[in-house]
Amino acid sequence: MRDRGKRGRPVTEPPHLASAGEKQNRTGTGRPHLAVVGAGPAGLAGALAAAARGIRVTLVDAAGQAGGQFYRQPAPALGARRPQALHHQWRTWVRLRDGLDRHRTSGRITHRTDHHVWCVERDCASGRFRVHALLGPAQEEGGTVDADAVLLATGGYERVLPFPGWTLPGVVTAGGAQAMLKGGLVLPGRTAVVAGTGPLLLPVATGLAAAGARVAALVESAGPAALLRRAPALAAQPGKLAEGAGYAARLLRHGVPALVRHTVVAAHGTDRLEAVTVAALDRTGQIRPGGTRRVPCDTLAVGHGMLPHTDLAETLGCTLSGPAVRVDGEQRTDVPGVWAAGEATGVGGAALALAEGHIAGRSVAARLHGTVPDPGRWAAAARTRDRLRKFAAALDAVYAPPAGWAAGVTDDTVVCRCEEVTAGEVRVAAGPLGAGDLRTVKLLTRAGMGWCQGRMCAPAVAGLTGCPLTPGRRPFARPVPLGVLAALPDADGTGPDRNGPD
Ligand SMILES: Cc1cc2nc3c(=O)[nH]c(=O)nc-3n(C[C@H](O)[C@H](O)[C@H](O)COP(=O)(O)OP(=O)(O)OC[C@H]3O[C@@H](n4cnc5c(N)ncnc54)[C@H](O)[C@@H]3O)c2cc1C
Repeated sequence: MRDRGKRGRPVTEPPHLASAGEKQNRTGTGRPHLAVVGAGPAGLAGALAAAARGIRVTLVDAAGQAGGQFYRQPAPALGARRPQALHHQWRTWVRLRDGLDRHRTSGRITHRTDHHVWCVERDCASGRFRVHALLGPAQEEGGTVDADAVLLATGGYERVLPFPGWTLPGVVTAGGAQAMLKGGLVLPGRTAVVAGTGPLLLPVATGLAAAGARVAALVESAGPAALLRRAPALAAQPGKLAEGAGYAARLLRHGVPALVRHTVVAAHGTDRLEAVTVAALDRTGQIRPGGTRRVPCDTLAVGHGMLPHTDLAETLGCTLSGPAVRVDGEQRTDVPGVWAAGEATGVGGAALALAEGHIAGRSVAARLHGTVPDPGRWAAAARTRDRLRKFAAALDAVYAPPAGWAAGVTDDTVVCRCEEVTAGEVRVAAGPLGAGDLRTVKLLTRAGMGWCQGRMCAPAVAGLTGCPLTPGRRPFARPVPLGVLAALPDADGTGPDRNGPD
C-alpha cells in the first residue's frame, strides 16, 4: 500500500484549492482529472457534467456496461431488439448514453468497465487519489487510476431479512430478479411471488408479469394506514404519485393480487422452492393468528428495502449520516477532494441520483478549475434534489420491515449464508454469551466473517440480537487476492506494480 502522505509525492495544495495552472502541471495533460466510481445514473450525470466543463474523467464500474441498476442493459451478445420494453424513462437513458459516447469519442471520458474497485487511497501530502480495482470477471489482476478528485457514485444494495426456507433455490432478491430480466433477458421462474417491502417491489412485479411470468401475489408488509399518514408529503410529488398509479394499473391489468400488510413467513420445498406461507399482519406489525395462507410458486423475489454502499467512503474517512455518506449542498463529503452522489448518500431513486450527480459534477469542475462554484447555476437540480429527498424520507417511514419479523426466524434458520451461521447460534452469542455489539457476535459465531463481510447478514444479526447496526469498517470493499496486494508498489513508488497507474 502507498504511504498515505508521509513519504509519497511532494507536498502541494489539495486539489480542491489548487489553481488550474497547478493542475496542468500535475496531471501533465492540461486538464484536471476526476475519477468517478459507479456508472449508474448518479455517476453518469456527474461524469457528463464534469466533462462538459473541461474535466478529464475516468468512469470506473464493475459492470460490463454503463447504466447501473436502474438502466441495467442486456449483454450485447443477447441481441435484444427492444431493450426499452424493460425500462422506464428510456429517453433519459438515451441522453446519458449518447452523452457518454460523445465524450468518449472526444477523449474527455474514459470508461473502464469490469473494474471492481476495492479501495481508494488519498495521498495526504498531494491530496491526490489512487483508485485500486480488480479487473475482469476473474478479478485476479489489479489496476489503478490516479486522479485529482473522486466522485463516489456506488449506489446501494438490497436488504433481505431471513425467514425459514429463504436459502432454498428459487428464492432470489427482488433486485436480483429484476437484474436477471433486464441484464439476462430471462425470467427467474414461471410462477413468482414478489414480497417484502419498498417501492422496488412494484417495478419487479409488473416487470415479471409483463415478461410472461405468472405473479401469484405481490406481498407488501406496509399497510395503507402508513401511506395515509404520510399523504401530505407524498402528495407534494404528483409525478411520483402518477408513477405509483401507473404501477397499480399494470398490476390490475396483469391480474396480480396485491396483499398489503402481509408478509412471507416461510418458504417450502425439498430441492427447490415449491410454495410460500404468507401471513397477515396486525397494525403493530405482528403476525395475526390464523391469518396465514400457502401460495404455490417456483420463485420468490424478496427484498426489505435498500442500504447505501459506503465501503469506499468509509475507508477514505468520510463521515456517515446514519447509513449513508454525509454530503454538503455541493455533494462534497468532509474529506477534501471526495464527492458522493446517488444512493450512496441515501436511497431515493434514479431521478434523485441524477440530480445529485449533476450537482456533484458541476461542483467538481468548478473546484478543480480553482474557482468557487455558484449554486445558482444548478438551482433547478437542487430544487429537484430537495423535493425528492423529502419524498424519499416519507417513503422510508412508510416502508419498514414488519416489527415482529425476528420472532418468526426459527433457531435452525441460516442467517449468515457465507459462514452458515444459524439464528440459534446468533441468539446464544447475544444471550448467554453476552455479546452486545455486532463485532462481538461476529467473533463468537463467525456471522459476517465470510465472503460478503456481513453486508448481507449484518441487518439481520442486528435485528435478531438488538445490537445497533453500526458501519462495518471494512478496509477493502471486496476480497482482494494476495498476489494483487503483493504487486502494489512500495510507498516510495518503487516495487512491482505490474499494471501501473493511469
Ligand atoms: C439490485 C437493484 C435493482 C434495482 N432495480 C430498480 C428498478 O427496477 N427500478 C427502480 O426504480 N429502481 C431500482 N433500483 C434502485 C436504483 O438502484 C436507483 O434508483 C438508481 O439506480 C440509483 O442510481 P445510482 O447511480 O446511485 O446507483 P446504481 O444505479 O446502483 O449504480 C451504482 C454503480 O456503481 C457500481 N459500483 C458499486 N460499487 C462499485 C465498486 N466497488 N467498484 C466498481 N463499481 C462499483 C455498480 O456496478 C453500479 O453500476 C434497484 C436497486 C438495486 C440495488
